[in-house]
Amino acid sequence: MILPILPRAGLAAGVLALSISVAAGAVQAKEPQAALAAALARQPATAPAKNVILFIGDGMGVSTVTATRILAGQRAGVDGASYDLAFDTMPYGGLVRTYSADGLVTDSANGASAITTGYRTINGGLGVDGGARRGVCDPARNVPTLAQRAKRELGKAVGVVSTASLTDATPAAFYAHSPDRGWESDVSLPAAAREAGCVDIASQLVLAPDDLRPDIALGGGLSFFRPEAVGGQRKDGQDLPEIWGARADAAFVTDRDGLNAAVAAGRDVLGLFAAVHMPREVDRPTAAPQAPTLEEMTRAAISRLAAEPQGYVLLVEAAHIDKAHHAGLVAASLTEGIELSKAVAAAIALTDPAETLILVTADHSHGLVINGGDRGDDVLGLIEGPTGAPRLAADGKPLPILTYATGPGGPRNGEGRPTLEGIDVTAADQVRQAGVYSPSAAHAGEDVPAYAQGPAAYLVTGSMDQPYLFQVMRHALRLPVEAP
Ligand SMILES: [Zn+2]
Repeated sequence: MILPILPRAGLAAGVLALSISVAAGAVQAKEPQAALAAALARQPATAPAKNVILFIGDGMGVSTVTATRILAGQRAGVDGASYDLAFDTMPYGGLVRTYSADGLVTDSANGASAITTGYRTINGGLGVDGGARRGVCDPARNVPTLAQRAKRELGKAVGVVSTASLTDATPAAFYAHSPDRGWESDVSLPAAAREAGCVDIASQLVLAPDDLRPDIALGGGLSFFRPEAVGGQRKDGQDLPEIWGARADAAFVTDRDGLNAAVAAGRDVLGLFAAVHMPREVDRPTAAPQAPTLEEMTRAAISRLAAEPQGYVLLVEAAHIDKAHHAGLVAASLTEGIELSKAVAAAIALTDPAETLILVTADHSHGLVINGGDRGDDVLGLIEGPTGAPRLAADGKPLPILTYATGPGGPRNGEGRPTLEGIDVTAADQVRQAGVYSPSAAHAGEDVPAYAQGPAAYLVTGSMDQPYLFQVMRHALRLPVEAP
């Protein structure tokens, strides 16, 4: 095993004991020779894809993947560093540049739109090209999404799944066009934008024509779809779930049982499981036990869409990786990363790699830093010495293995870094230390990873540009370069 990294080298007995425990736990580690043999045997899958499943771990930068992998392994009772998340087993991958038309660091609206439309746009822009201006309605800037083109031009079915509101930036980038990600219901759509021809995001999902509308859409966001009279926020009186459910062969559902019944009946399904965002997985079992998990929603969507003779395209977003990072809640964020891995594992198990391209990537990174730690240290805890006592940093205070560059856990008003004395930093509700205070942690601008398997997956390689991922999926489906 990889022992030279052990800071306790020289303590022969300790090294021996640890090497044995690491080796015993490392059953899923990639053995270098076996990995080479697999790579040598690999043949590029050049046939068209019947189906495309795009997973976006929102805010899932490389350091988040590494920390999630370690936590997943440790929770499974084995070595974390050598563990494999579901997408770690995919044969192809590379790095993706994420900058926006106007920023070194992207937000989720541009990041997702670049992948779903092939056009890099401004931060805050959804399904619009790079000439759009934030908040200025100009429908001439709209560019079709992969899902819209696959449905209209190829007759494929479309699914969208997220733990955020379905009107939130990432899922909306699959079906909507808006120069402002904030136009989620009629309440936030300015009158001038309405007059110029723009439509709120919730309406775009439900009121889309038959040849563009998703066949299954699962997530949060009920308040953006319902009028004030029934507890929503809409002031135009439209009850969008009622409109959806009134169509023949369509169903509106609000819990796991309703979802499973509607999928079993082969309906078009709108599932809205929370007023805004669905709860984080660390909270869901108590806060909303009737709400499906990301894996359950993914399974439901694939089983509904698998019956489609022309195939399907599906977007699955793990939204709380990002939202928990913003709040400095690292345990909650990494738990969402594990949920994403479970959803990817389900997709791998439920699909045929000869006909389904599965792509896993992120819209942008977050400033999570892995500062150190022994192989056996709890990744959510402090860097510890051989005695199990915290090893002090040069400022004389214990240092967590994971900290943020910016965030709500940063020092305020000239305070120094807290000593963390008497605090269980591993607790799910503990706000993690950050270098610089910010009420919401900032996104990070370095490249993000992409992983792929299935038809055209071999094209996911090297240093890529975010809109290139659209081209890979477009080619996999054999859509022409331009929409007719
Ligand atoms: Zn974010």
